[in-house]
Order: sequence, then C-alpha cells, then structure tokens
Amino acid sequence: MRDNIWVLVEAWRGEISEITYQLLALGRELADGLGSPLEAVLLGRRTVHRLATLGAADRVLYVDDPRVEQPVAAARAHALAALIRERQPRALLVPLTNVSWDEVGLLPACLEAPMVNSCRDVRIAGGDLQAECLLYGGKMVATVAVPEPSILGVLPGIRPAKPGRADQSPEIESLPLPIPEGLERNNCSTEAVEAPRSQGLRPSRTGVRRRERNTASVDASAAEWDSYSATGPKPAVRFQGYLEPEAGDVDLTQQDVLVAIGRGVGMEDDVELAEELAEALGGAVCGSRPVIDQGWLPLARQVGKSGVIVRPRAYLAFGISGAPEHVEGMMDSELIIAVNTDPEAPIFGVAHYGIVEDAAEMLEALTEAARVPA
Ligand SMILES: Cc1cc2nc3c(=O)[nH]c(=O)nc-3n(C[C@H](O)[C@H](O)[C@H](O)COP(=O)(O)OP(=O)(O)OC[C@H]3O[C@@H](n4cnc5c(N)ncnc54)[C@H](O)[C@@H]3O)c2cc1C
Repeated sequence: MRDNIWVLVEAWRGEISEITYQLLALGRELADGLGSPLEAVLLGRRTVHRLATLGAADRVLYVDDPRVEQPVAAARAHALAALIRERQPRALLVPLTNVSWDEVGLLPACLEAPMVNSCRDVRIAGGDLQAECLLYGGKMVATVAVPEPSILGVLPGIRPAKPGRADQSPEIESLPLPIPEGLERNNCSTEAVEAPRSQGLRPSRTGVRRRERNTASVDASAAEWDSYSATGPKPAVRFQGYLEPEAGDVDLTQQDVLVAIGRGVGMEDDVELAEELAEALGGAVCGSRPVIDQGWLPLARQVGKSGVIVRPRAYLAFGISGAPEHVEGMMDSELIIAVNTDPEAPIFGVAHYGIVEDAAEMLEALTEAARVPA
C-alpha cells in the first residue's frame, strides 16, 4: 500500500462539480498532515480543459475514455476498482451526491474493501485518519477510526471549495481505461471466487462479501465492457440521456444568503414574501420538504437529507421545525437565524439567533428593514 490520498473528481456533463473542490480542500489538508501526495482521479472524457483547476492536487490521474464518461455506476466502479488495485492508495475520498451515489455503493463491493460512509468530517488523530459520520438520518454522529486503506463517502459541504480550487497546473498522468484481466472473475461477479489479496485494497474483515444470491447483478464481464463500445450485448444499465431541470432555477449551493420556508409559513402566498426578502438580501428562497411536497417550490429548492446540502453565509429559517433530515442539509451555514412560534422548536438548537414570532410577520418586517438604505 502506498500512502497517497486520492480524491475522486466528479464531473457532470463535462464540467467539474463544486464538491470536487471541497474534497480537494479536505484531501490537501489530510495529505499535508500525513506528509502524503494528493492525487485527483478523473474518469471521463473531454474534461481536459478543466484539469488546470485541479491544482490543489499534486497529480491528476486522468482516464479520458467515453466508456466512463456518463454516470453509469457499473462501468465507472469497475474502472476505478482496477485502478485502485494497481495503485493502492491509502484512502479514497468520494463525493456523496446523486451523481456519484451509485458508484460509491458499488466500489467497496468490487474491492471487498471497507467503506466509511456519510462523513461530515475527516481529520488526523494520532497519525491516523478519523471520520465523523452521520447515522440514522443525522440523529446520531459516530466517530470512526478509519481502517486503511479505505473508501470514504464524503457529504457535500465538508470544506469550503475555495482552497481546493487552485490555479497552478497539476502534473497530469494520462492513463488508458483500466480493465483488469479476468474481469469476469472479479468480486462484483455473482460467481463465488476468492478476492485476490495481493491486489490493492484488502478484502474486508467487516463482512462485505459477494452477493451470491442476488442474480440481478451488476456483473461486468469482458463482454459487458465491450458493449460500451457498442459491439457487444446490451449492458444491464445504460445511459440514455439527460432530463433537463426546470429552466431558470438557481443552484442553492452557490448562494450567500438563503431564505428558507417551512410548513409554518402556512400559505402559498407567503412564498412571495420570502422571495421579496431574498431579493432584498441578494439571496434565494429554499424550503423544507413539506413546502416542496405541496408544490410551492420546485424540488431543486429542497434543503436537507433528500435535497441539497448548503453552507451559505446566512440561512434564515421561517416556520421550520428543525427535523434532523432538514438540519442535515443546513447545519454548517455560517449564520443561522430561525423564526418559529414554538420556543421549544428544535431549530433553535442549531440557530445562532432565534426569534419566537409569526413567520409571515417577520418576513414582512425584515424585508422592509432590508430595503431601507443604509
Ligand atoms: C428519509 C427522509 C428524508 C427526508 N428528507 C428531508 C429533506 O431533505 N428536507 C426536509 O426539510 N425534510 C426532509 N424530511 C422530512 C422531515 O422529517 C420533516 O418532516 C420536515 O423537515 C418538516 O418540515 P417543516 O419543519 O417545514 O414542518 P414541520 O415539522 O411541520 O414544522 C413546522 C414548524 O413551523 C412552526 N410554525 C407553525 N406556525 C408558525 C407560524 N405562524 N410562524 C412561525 N412558525 C410557525 C411550528 O412550530 C413548527 O416548528 C425527510 C424525512 C425522511 C423520513
């Protein structure tokens, strides 16, 4: 095993995702602390014009191949597993997003390697890696001694992206698509074979074994790989196309100020009040799940466990109770101000400032105050 720290670069339609830079910031911190090299791993195609932004890493391992361009987990996880076996990093940081989620799940199974999931922080303790992981939808936090080598599933917002986005060009190592020999016998196959212990990340002692009973497998045979070049049979999962999100919507993770509304706002008309305040503060409106379920805001505006994880400079929560699934998505905001009629509402446990008031009244009052010229 080498002591390299790896970050899996997430690219979406040819553009490198923001979370990549967050992970690079974390990776740089860990690599520096351990005295190890930091390497960014990019599987994809035509992303070469963005490689210069990955300069926080010492080196970029770049597999420029159409077969791993799209977010098809089987294709990407097998390629990544082969690369890990060959290079044997100490730890791989993988983004936990809708884009990478499937391959994050498949990769440890391919390698029979341990995975530490839902990391909201990773640090060095006594020369070893230690992770803080959210359990039970954020109700519990577990501090985990990270086995080495290991795969770490990292939650968005773990570090600010800025330090991870460096201008200097990293060293780039171009690699062919890694297809291990005898791929049909690897550990993602339904065939019961022993994992080759000498190949990279060690087989897990934590009980992650082959899915011998699950015949609806993600088995990647050599023929399946060939099929990615359109000459063989159809693979189990194929990329068909992208569905475009509603036009004109905002990226919540890029906002400095978020005005969040929950069920406590009571009426759809109050969404307009929230929009007025957001406009006055130069921010955007988002919401808790009930608001999205009622169709008052589009899905892209949902903050929380099954929505977006945000870390704005200011998060203003109106009529939101503070359920763990919501808090998971906003608790790392720099400043949290909560308005709720219930003084016992859990949101006050994470808020820096709390106001026991009616949401609509406060929305109006704050908008008025924000519009007064300084
Ligand atoms: C698997 C799973 C995933 C989930 N994912 C998410 C997620 O991503 N995001 C998310 O938000 N939720 C998520 N949820 C739902 C979550 O558990 C809560 O149900 C939800 O967050 C509650 O939303 P809320 O705070 O707006 O509503 P409520 O819990 O109903 O709270 C409303 C609050 O408004 C206050 N209030 C009432 N009237 C007023 C008033 N006039 N002025 C001011 N305050 C008032 C009340 O005191 C109360 O605290 C998820 C749940 C599950 C099981």
